[in-house]
Amino acid sequence: MTTGKINIHTENIFPIIKKFLYSDHEIFMRELVSNAVDATQKLKTLAGIGEFKDELGDLAIKVTVDKEAKTITISDSGIGMTADEVEKYINQIAFSSAEEFVNKYKDKKDAANIIGHFGLGFYSSFMVASRVEIFTKTHKKGKGTKAMRWECDGSPEYKLEETEKKTRGTDVVLHINDDSIEFLENNRIQHLLTKYCKFLPVPISFGDEIINDVAPAWTRKPAELNDEDYNTFYKKLYPFADDPMFHIHLNVDYPFNLTGILYFPKIKRNIDLDKNKIQLYSNQVFVTDSVEGIVPEFLTMLHGVIDSPDIPLNVSRSYLQSDAAVKKIASHISKKVADKLEELFKDNREEFEKKWDDISVFIKYGMLSDEKFYERAAKFCLLKNTDGKYYTIDEFKEAIKPFQTDKEEKTVFIYTNTPTEHHGLVAQAKEKGYQVVVMDGQLDSHFVNQLEQKTENAVFARIDSDTMDNIVKKDEERTSVLSQKELDELKPLFENNLDKEKFDLQVEHLESTEPPAIIIKPEFMRRMKDMAAMGGGMDFMGAMPEKVNLVVNSNHALISKLLKEKDEASRTGMIKQITDLAMLSQNMLKGKELSDFINRSLSLIQ
Ligand code: ADP
Repeated sequence: MTTGKINIHTENIFPIIKKFLYSDHEIFMRELVSNAVDATQKLKTLAGIGEFKDELGDLAIKVTVDKEAKTITISDSGIGMTADEVEKYINQIAFSSAEEFVNKYKDKKDAANIIGHFGLGFYSSFMVASRVEIFTKTHKKGKGTKAMRWECDGSPEYKLEETEKKTRGTDVVLHINDDSIEFLENNRIQHLLTKYCKFLPVPISFGDEIINDVAPAWTRKPAELNDEDYNTFYKKLYPFADDPMFHIHLNVDYPFNLTGILYFPKIKRNIDLDKNKIQLYSNQVFVTDSVEGIVPEFLTMLHGVIDSPDIPLNVSRSYLQSDAAVKKIASHISKKVADKLEELFKDNREEFEKKWDDISVFIKYGMLSDEKFYERAAKFCLLKNTDGKYYTIDEFKEAIKPFQTDKEEKTVFIYTNTPTEHHGLVAQAKEKGYQVVVMDGQLDSHFVNQLEQKTENAVFARIDSDTMDNIVKKDEERTSVLSQKELDELKPLFENNLDKEKFDLQVEHLESTEPPAIIIKPEFMRRMKDMAAMGGGMDFMGAMPEKVNLVVNSNHALISKLLKEKDEASRTGMIKQITDLAMLSQNMLKGKELSDFINRSLSLIQ
């Protein structure tokens, strides 16, 4: 037997490892099982190239818990280690990387955050164990290949001696410390193995069960898989989720390695709830399911798996976000997603249109947050009119240009954020030959602004923001049936009967078939309010009083009648009724005003 002292610069590394890794003790399992997988894969490689000629036998990795002895054992039938290799790999290399880690992070405040993603390797076992033994027998033959037992109790001293072990491979025995007895529960181990090892490439048994799928869908060729396979895999990842809409199988080997499957889920209520569900793997080992910084922000709404050995895993999140390789990966994923969407659009537009309402929120999020994605997606981003017909942005612009161009020669996109409430206004617009875009999605108030900036020579006007006549160019100036004297009378008449805090008054010569009065909301103010409501950092806008414009149509027969009415009380009644109807048609009449309106209407009928 030899005893020795691990060549140490940091006085005692283990208390530090324990303290820092506190929140993430469970990763010891990921690290030890990954080592066992590596050792097994190495042996398979050697067998593959003819350097190892014996029977491979059962290569499954076994995890066992002995509650009485308070041990957890991870056994593999991999390459094993000779005495020299234990010296080198466990005492020197593994230890020095653990030590390096500690030196780097022991004084850092955010160490606790960093650490969960730092693969500490073998020495992470000391987070849960007071003593660790390794029993190992190398696959090699000849001198110096006897089975070895290594033991260490967390101090820099270790023991290394020959031992009896018949079978090839390595058993790592953890003597669980008193603070960590939770890990002796079968449930806990089952949970850990499912979390970290579910898709590892070597079978892992716990009890009588193999807990993993050694060839998960993303590691296979797209040609081998059908839609059902993809959906089955999705269910494995998210057992309670509805079927996804479609998927993108990523497979990149240059300039970095990345495989994965991204799914477009059906978004139901709240975007945020469904966010950050993508799982990140490194060679099939689960690393994390918070992928901010790696996946472009807007794609965090997708689900699925990304596997890349090239993403530096053992570093902090802030480092990840500034890492050039990671940035490249993010922009590559974004491009792939755009390509796939474009392909779907081109190959089967009808299908694409059917999916549009469900996927538009992703695409708009992407277009809002990623300049490059905007450019790619502008080709297949669809606009839906109030008749449910879909156009690309360019197609729509072409279609409306002849009819919807304003005095400044800009194409006017008229939109509604609430087709039901704007039903009357939409009908009027259609009567004039205009088309109205439906913009009732969660992100549309932002998206409208962006479309307006990006679409050349275009303006967007919400259908209740202005009268149709202001929105588009008139061939001729419309005239009023009223005399100038009557027109002069009209404005003060309304003003004296209305609450000035609520209404700005405006007289226009609209068609006689249009309503006697219309409510409009100034476009700019309204957009600001919408953005404030969505949390655009303009909270003060939300507190501003809602003032609207009341447009009186001088050409409506009722207005002429009003001017002829001599009875003061009747006049006031008519003005109130006309104004309330305008409010009502936009669902803006509420509370006492609504009751007053109903009572007034009833007495008018009587
Ligand atoms: P890493 O796995 O990142 O190299 P570790 O600290 O986990 O670092 O392990 C150090 C080394 O010890 C490994 O690279 C490997 O050579 C050796 N090793 C660890 N576990 C095993 C095992 N189960 N079988 C064979 N070799 C092992």
